[in-house]
Amino acid sequence: MSARNGLNGRMTLENRPFDERKTLVIAGQSIPLGETRELQLPFDETYLGEPVSLPIYVMRAPQPGPRVFLTGTLHGDELNGMGIIRELLYGDPLQLIRGSLILIPVINIHGLERHSRYMPDRRDPNRCFPGLARGSQTSRMAHAIFTEVVKQCDYGIDFHSAAVRRVNYPNVRAYTRNPRTRMLAEAFGCELIVNNQGPQGSLRRSAVQAGVPSIILEAGEVWKIEPTVVEIGVRGVLNVLRTVGMLQGEPRKPPFQLIVTKTTWVRAPMGGILDFHARPGDLVRRNECLATMSSIFGQEQSSLLAPVDGIVLGMTTMPAVKPGGPVYHLAALSRRNVQQAQHYLKNGERHGMFGRVRRELTSAMAFREHESETHETKS
Ligand SMILES: [Zn+2]
Repeated sequence: MSARNGLNGRMTLENRPFDERKTLVIAGQSIPLGETRELQLPFDETYLGEPVSLPIYVMRAPQPGPRVFLTGTLHGDELNGMGIIRELLYGDPLQLIRGSLILIPVINIHGLERHSRYMPDRRDPNRCFPGLARGSQTSRMAHAIFTEVVKQCDYGIDFHSAAVRRVNYPNVRAYTRNPRTRMLAEAFGCELIVNNQGPQGSLRRSAVQAGVPSIILEAGEVWKIEPTVVEIGVRGVLNVLRTVGMLQGEPRKPPFQLIVTKTTWVRAPMGGILDFHARPGDLVRRNECLATMSSIFGQEQSSLLAPVDGIVLGMTTMPAVKPGGPVYHLAALSRRNVQQAQHYLKNGERHGMFGRVRRELTSAMAFREHESETHETKS
């Protein structure tokens, strides 16, 4: 790891000179070292002209150091991020030894109120960064967050969940060609890191472009706070804070970690009912049957085969599809990556936290072993 240096081998790269990081002003309030504050950042107004503000929680260690932001529920229906940040606040107290942590549990307050991913002006808030002071409603909100929080930080983690009627196996998405972003992604400690820049206008892409390495965690489903997703999110944040020297202790590594550059969707060739054979997190081999499609009276119509060797990143939660409907999202693996994953996934099973999340994410869904080839290809 070329960019590691100093302080017992921890990541110590910071954006700002040392004396600048003693002062931190957000929403017009100065937060001294060693203090914790709840702030309100005004970003909008109601039809009645009342201000609408974003709740921000700031924790500062007695010593200056890196600044890390955590953001949740940027998409107003994705609640796992809010759950992760709340657990960080109400779980075991964080004893920061240096640096500052800036928490925004819910960015899209309007979306949360309306059970919607979007903002009231129908824009996707994760396509409007870095925003404009005199832009649209969403663009102004993005601008407020970007100037008041993101640009003052050294690292950022934004929490997301799968789109409606889908579920994601926890994976980090990061632009790994940026060395500091790659370190951040690796430090978080998920098994899978999907390398891409993120969509134009996304918070993390804009942050990386502004010199603030940022990643997202994609995990779980909308409208839920899932216990194993919260566990993975909290562990990831603690791993990062330990890696950058803000918390004591050693980061916990996943059993294996792969950087994936290609992902692919397996789509239904026709309308029908699905019998699922693979779960999120499963290692699947090329031409393995992922799901069987049948008519409403059970006549088998088609098998959905894996087009590549891969790990299931996400899947539909709805067992009925139309032609072209997305069923499985696969992270394509190289031969070497397959060998590495196989080495740790004896009989396709995982142990510990990653095993629990694999089992619990889809525990209320029906899965059936595929009769042929499944076992021999998984051995
Ligand atoms: Zn999202």
